[in-house]
This record gives sequence, structure tokens and C-alpha cells, in this order.
Amino acid sequence: MKVLVVGSGGREHALCWKLKQSPLLAKLWCAPGNAGIAAVADCVAIGAEKVDELVAFAKANAVDLVVIGPEAPLVLGLADTCRAEGIKVFGPSAAAAELEGSKGFMKDMASKAGVPTAWYGRFTDMEAAKSFIRAKGAPIVVKTDGLAAGKGVVVAMSLDEALAAVDMMMGDKVFGTAGDELVIEEFLDGEECSFFALCDGATALPLVAAQDHKRVGDGDTGPNTGGMGAYSPAPVVTPEIQAEIMRTSILPLVKAMADAGKPYTGVLFAGIMVTASGPKLLEYNVRFGDPECQVLMARLKSDLLPVLLAGAEGKLDGIHLDWHDDPALVVVMAAKGYPGAYDKNTVIGGLDAAGAVEGVTVFHAGTALKDGKVVATGGRVLGVTATAKTVSEARERAYQAVDKLDWPQGFCRRDIAWRALERGK
Ligand code: AMP
Repeated sequence: MKVLVVGSGGREHALCWKLKQSPLLAKLWCAPGNAGIAAVADCVAIGAEKVDELVAFAKANAVDLVVIGPEAPLVLGLADTCRAEGIKVFGPSAAAAELEGSKGFMKDMASKAGVPTAWYGRFTDMEAAKSFIRAKGAPIVVKTDGLAAGKGVVVAMSLDEALAAVDMMMGDKVFGTAGDELVIEEFLDGEECSFFALCDGATALPLVAAQDHKRVGDGDTGPNTGGMGAYSPAPVVTPEIQAEIMRTSILPLVKAMADAGKPYTGVLFAGIMVTASGPKLLEYNVRFGDPECQVLMARLKSDLLPVLLAGAEGKLDGIHLDWHDDPALVVVMAAKGYPGAYDKNTVIGGLDAAGAVEGVTVFHAGTALKDGKVVATGGRVLGVTATAKTVSEARERAYQAVDKLDWPQGFCRRDIAWRALERGK
């Protein structure tokens, strides 16, 4: 089979790395890819959001399956255009990707499907939003309806903080039109995890859970990032909780989307809060998490390619996936300054030595080749991924590999998986 993966992050490197192991694979392209992806796929210089160019490439090269990594091309309708041209694609339509594009739509669908989630209100009027907040009291959560690069959420512990968030998002338009509408919802207390399932429009196949670290600093301090590390399994997600998440948060949503004429095909990522009264949905995303995908791919034993194809063809029913028992952990190396301003084009050395540590794979997120050298081109740059018999051993291996890198302009958190390790004690 000829496969085109769309994207250029660590998530797409992990997908390409896994697809490359498939005996069914004849040819693998990645658009636009990065320096690490270039070792397993042919990188094509087409941006992930260039829908028409991507589809033209897929047609010209008789691509059998398009796999879309990031949300932006999904929201732009890349999957729809592929389908319209008769190209098989694993990824939701633009209408289904609204689950991530609009929090209001997501909450309405979850509520229609009877998914356990926070109570909420949708507001386009500032005074109405503030009255709702005053009536409900704090703690309470204020969110922009639209995408705001992961920053449009304020978990307000006081009334003043919640009211100020409304002023900031809707009055000052700090996130532009994303704040034209707000979702205000119940504060959920508990332990957070990410759960993933593959969907084919009619049914869903569970993957596994992971936990990530959003804050930039050790001890979960400092500003939010795209994710500084992750691990899987998530000890909080017992087999019983996993079954409950599938039963209450995944399958009903897939059915509700089909009933609404927006069948969901692709990866469904449920952000879950495991509360004292069971798992509750925080949000859906329409793609793999990055860096969670890296640990999922490291743990997946089954061939990924036929499963993604089955998803694209609506044939997931009856498929079973095998997983390695060993846990996996990823430490993200970022450019110093991230998530603020950082230098680009700094040279990264020691990649071979890091990749040679037992059980370690170094996925590239923001890299390029320049004059034969690997240089950093983004904020999050590498995902040093390790598997081992235990989480603590996997963590040791990952940090051993990190210490073999020669990249003075990079940094990482040193406490990835602290929650899992604390629990183990
Ligand atoms: P979201 O983009 O909606 O996932 O929100 C970003 C982060 O805000 C989540 O990962 C949670 O840590 C936190 N958060 C969002 N909604 C809630 C909620 N209803 N209760 C508590 N924390 C929340």
C-alpha cells in the first residue's frame, strides 16, 4: 500500500515509524515531514494546510490511504476533499472536526449523547455570561468557543477571576473571534487522563490511555505548553474505568454523530477527568495527542496500517488490537524560552548516541536538515521515548538518552511521570 501521512510533528514521526514496520507498506510519504521523519518516509514539501496540493499529490501518486495528523487540515476539510476525490482517508470530515473547533458544539453533542460531563452554558452576550457565573458561583471554568492555541481556558477559583476571564476573552478579544462565544462550565475535580479510540463512522475501537504534562516546569509549574511529556498506561485508568469511558463517553458520541449526519471517522481523543463519581468528559479532540501518540505507538504491538485502513473503510467492527505490557514514556526536549520566544536553527548533536540507548526511540517534532546537520526549527523539538519493564526504568532510559544529546539550547522537564511513580509508592 502507498500511504501519505500529513503533518510534521512528533506525532507524525511516531505514526510514520509505526507504519514503516508494516509488511503491507509499499511506499510512505509524509507532507511536509521533518528531519527525523525523513529517515522512514519520503518527505514532500507541501504544507499540512495546503488541501488542494495535498489531494493533487495523492491523486498523482495513486496513494491508497491518507492519514491526517494535526487538527488544522481536518478543520479545513482535507478529509472531505480526499473522499470527494475517491481517496481513502483516515480522519474526520470538517463537520465532525467541529468537535474540536467549537467547544459549544462539542458540549451540545456530548449532552445529546448523554455523555457524563460538566454542566455548561453557551454565551454570546457578556452580561448574560456574567449573570450565569454569579448565579453558579466559583470555582467555575470559562472557555472560548473557538480554538485559541490551547490557551482559551481559565479555571477560575474565585468569582472575580471568572468575571475577569469574560472581560479578557469577550471584551478585550485577547483570542480574537475565538472569544465571540464563551462556554462556561462546572469545575470538575479529579485526576486527568487522555483516552483514545479509533472510529469508523459507526463504531469505535479502544486504544489505551495516557497522561501528559502540560506545564513547562518541573512539579507542574509555569505556563501551559503543547505538552512536555507523557506516559502510558495511565495508572488511574483501570480496565473498569477504560470500559466505562468507552461505554459512556466514546460509543454514545459516535452514535450521536452518525445520527446527526456527521459520522465520525478517525482518532477520537477524549480528555477525561476521573472524579470521585467516575470518569467525566472534559473535551474531545479530533486527532492523536502529541506527545501521547509517541507512547501509544511505542506500546502498540499490532500492525497499524490495516487498522487505519479498516477505519477509513468503515470496517473496524470485530478488530482486536494487541499491546505490549511494558509502559512507555516520552520526554519532550524543547528550545530554551519555549513556550515564549526561542532561538531557531541551533544544531542538535548526539542524536545517534541518544537513539542507541536500549529501549529508546528519538522522535523528531521540530527539526530540519541544514548542511547535513539536524537543526531545531520549533518550540518542541524532540520526543525522547523509552519503553522498559517499569515506568521508573523507562524514565531512567529516557533521561540517559537525553543526557547523550549535545544541544545546549534545549531543555526538558526532569520529572515526567511523577504522578505514576508517586502512585507506585
Ligand atoms: P480544555 O482545552 O477544555 O481541555 O481545557 C484545558 C485544561 O483546563 C484541561 O486539560 C483541564 O486541566 C482544565 N479544565 C478544562 N475544563 C475543566 C473543568 N470543567 N474542570 C476542571 N478543569 C478543567
